[in-house]
Amino acid sequence: MSTSTATPDVDVVVIGAGFTGIYAIHRFRDRMGLTVHGFDAAADVGGTWYWNRYPGARVDIESVHYSYSFDEQLQQEWHWTERFPAQPEILRYLSHVADRFDIRKDVTFGVRVTSATWDDDASFWRVTTDDGAVTTGRYLVSGAGTLSVPKVPDFPGVETFAGRTLLTGNWLEDVDLTGQRVGIIGTGSSGIQAISEIAKQAASLTVLQRTPNYATPIGNHSTDPEQEAAEKAAYSDIRAKSRNHFLGVPYDEVQPSALAVSPEQRRAVFDDRWNKGGFRLFIDSFADLLLDKAANDTAAEYIRERIRERVQDPATAELLCPTGYPYGTKRPPLETDYYEAYNRDTVTLVDVAANRIDAVMPQGVRLADGTVHELDVLVLATGFDACTGPLLAMNVTGRDGLRLADSWADGPQTYLGLTVHGFPNFFMVTGPQSPSVLYNMPLAIEDHVDLIGDVLAHLAESGHTVVEPSATAQDQWVAETNALSEMTLLPTSASSWYMGANIPGKPRRVLVYLGGAPRYRAICEDVKAGGWRGFAVADSSRGLETATPGQELDPCFMFVAETLRQQQFPGFRAAGVETARAVVDSFVGMQAPPQRVAAVSEHSYGPDPEQRLRVYRPDVDGDDGLPVLFYVHGGGFMAGGLDVVDEVVRDLAVRTRSVVVSATYRRPPEHRFPAAHDDASAALRWTVGHACEIGGDGHRISVAGDSAGGNLAAAAAVQAVRDGVHLTSLLLVYPLVSPTAQTASREQFAKGYVIELDDLAWFGEQYTSSEADVRDPRLALDTLTAADLAGLPPTLVITNECDTLRDEGEAFAQQLRAAGVDARAQRFEGLAHGAFWMSLAVFGCSDQRQAAADFLVAQAARDRAPALA
Ligand code: NAP
Repeated sequence: MSTSTATPDVDVVVIGAGFTGIYAIHRFRDRMGLTVHGFDAAADVGGTWYWNRYPGARVDIESVHYSYSFDEQLQQEWHWTERFPAQPEILRYLSHVADRFDIRKDVTFGVRVTSATWDDDASFWRVTTDDGAVTTGRYLVSGAGTLSVPKVPDFPGVETFAGRTLLTGNWLEDVDLTGQRVGIIGTGSSGIQAISEIAKQAASLTVLQRTPNYATPIGNHSTDPEQEAAEKAAYSDIRAKSRNHFLGVPYDEVQPSALAVSPEQRRAVFDDRWNKGGFRLFIDSFADLLLDKAANDTAAEYIRERIRERVQDPATAELLCPTGYPYGTKRPPLETDYYEAYNRDTVTLVDVAANRIDAVMPQGVRLADGTVHELDVLVLATGFDACTGPLLAMNVTGRDGLRLADSWADGPQTYLGLTVHGFPNFFMVTGPQSPSVLYNMPLAIEDHVDLIGDVLAHLAESGHTVVEPSATAQDQWVAETNALSEMTLLPTSASSWYMGANIPGKPRRVLVYLGGAPRYRAICEDVKAGGWRGFAVADSSRGLETATPGQELDPCFMFVAETLRQQQFPGFRAAGVETARAVVDSFVGMQAPPQRVAAVSEHSYGPDPEQRLRVYRPDVDGDDGLPVLFYVHGGGFMAGGLDVVDEVVRDLAVRTRSVVVSATYRRPPEHRFPAAHDDASAALRWTVGHACEIGGDGHRISVAGDSAGGNLAAAAAVQAVRDGVHLTSLLLVYPLVSPTAQTASREQFAKGYVIELDDLAWFGEQYTSSEADVRDPRLALDTLTAADLAGLPPTLVITNECDTLRDEGEAFAQQLRAAGVDARAQRFEGLAHGAFWMSLAVFGCSDQRQAAADFLVAQAARDRAPALA
């Protein structure tokens, strides 16, 4: 192919002809009219199913789900003979699909990609293959797979072995092992499948096990014609359910917690899922197995009990029982008669954790204690350089000579696990940091290829040719991926390939997105709905340097925004008062379990039932009066209440070791301006008057509020200072400063960011009755004079980048500074309005609350009365 013109040879170069390559070629070529060329090192299609022909190789997601969904006729006409088909049948299926869509004509087989280099001048990729050819393509799509670079351990002397060495991950022919003395290293999914089969053939089988695994029954059987017909009749429904499931399968029996049921109930659930087979025990029993060690222990112990039942020799059974890591933190294998293999006289289990492999010799494997296991065949089922390995093996170089290997020296850096900053027009199907291996692969692949198709269509529509994610979007994605991983038990496993821990020297970083397929899909939807958030487009590579990316948004917020959109929430105005209040109250569902405090008491500061306070005393030793934090909740003046901020103020009480007084107030439309403002002031007066009584230090009272509550808090503080009250500090979390503020952030984030501009307008209409109300300095804080503001305590204004109220909050901090107040604004990138309440849903909430707490604690320390200092 030519290499010298500015027009590339093809629009899209596709790497790999497995599940990804086949669909990608069809999608881009046949459905989009692009020119496409594929490469695969294999002699034919199949990808992982081409290379893994070891005995026992079998899929472990049900075939009805582990298959393409993109073509209705294809899924109707194909017949699977088994529930979990073996490798040959899956390869036949892929060959059939390749025939049906005439894929092979656009693939060069038997060549391996040795480098892919972005040409900054021509704005396309140069792809070099090991036959010396260079092919240029505008877009580069990798379907190189996640588990396609086998790990070959460098045992000393491995090349001296006189027998035959076979690698499960590169096993291309049927090998007759009858009568052979076989040794196998590795008891992961591949090893376990192979052991069950090889044990039936070999004269002897020596299993050299370093780490035992939690293998559970696959539950395979022939396809039942009636069930097949029923599934085919409901296929679109099944696919939709699958895509709405964490793992991409339509399982629907998961229960919330293994610890919330009795031991008998738990046992019944485990028995049921064990008997049903597949990944049901892992993914469809209890939702907290990967999150809570105690819950995980129940499943781990259950599996150990079942192993002991199946293995006759107690010592062998104990060796096969995993104990050193939680269930599921290494990918759980599925098995058929695996444990029974050890009941054969011909099978020996050797513990190479206790007595490590020292060397491979011509006659077999020697262990550290000098024992030699003599072998004719050595099978290496030692795993893969997962997820990043296949991409790094291709020597990818992006803009300005940036090597992927350097960009990823500290672990993968991606946006959506699909694209990489610095690598224009490069797409990784099921790449690292995407759900990939934790999402039924064919569906994960279709989703990714479709998303790439949408990106390319967007480029064509906008008249651009080059696309790349911003560094900010990528950083946010890496943070989301790592934060999700930290919430699970995965990082506690010492050798899981999910964490890159199986390869010496590989950075320990989570390689998969643990938020599940539905969350991932929702985020991708929001990326699209938000005008391709985080992606910059340009006419050329150089143009990317100055291109403005679509507004990035923290992935947590993308999920929240998309969830609201899917619920078709019509906005607060259309919802009306009652629904608006219910929606705001429902934000409790986005909060972490509330912190424990020492005492909570309820108080009134006026006759109206709304004039209430809730006082939280943290569990702090000592008789000294604690600092007091007076907190006014937000909710557009007309919604919100003590319950929805209960978790927020408990957290602040714990973080700041302060007594927190949480105030609510009379709300519109029943009570209009200035009722809420009068009440906030009255509630603060109550707090000042009762500070000592509630265990606080009357000299150290800080005032805080969020959103509309920020407005109320600021106005109450101004009034208190005017009345001669000493305040320690003022914390305003994305405050409403004025109903009529006209700012760039109000325009930019008017729609699609949780609180919309029209919501603000409607809240204002509910609360105010006249123009005079709207301009009243208690509400329109921007009309307060320097004299009004002078004397306010040190103030922190927290703002969020993607918030309608951002600019007015920051302007208010300036206004305070101009009046001589020690004030500053702290902006949180990528967050939107409401984050301060969303401790469970939005990971950045914790940073925001910590910033608030650090500020409050520092001010309280500084303001300590001399006698107590
Ligand atoms: P794996 O899960 O990484 O297992 C590798 C095995 O080799 C482990 O038991 C490991 O022990 C052992 N090992 C590696 N280096 C060793 C050394 N130097 N000395 C002694 N033992 C060593 O690899 P895999 O079994 O090929 O499976 C990889 C993934 O492929 C699976 O998790 C799964 O996602 C996929 N797969 C799927 C299927 C299917 O769908 N049915 C089948 C096969 C594979 P340690 O644990 O101590 O490191």
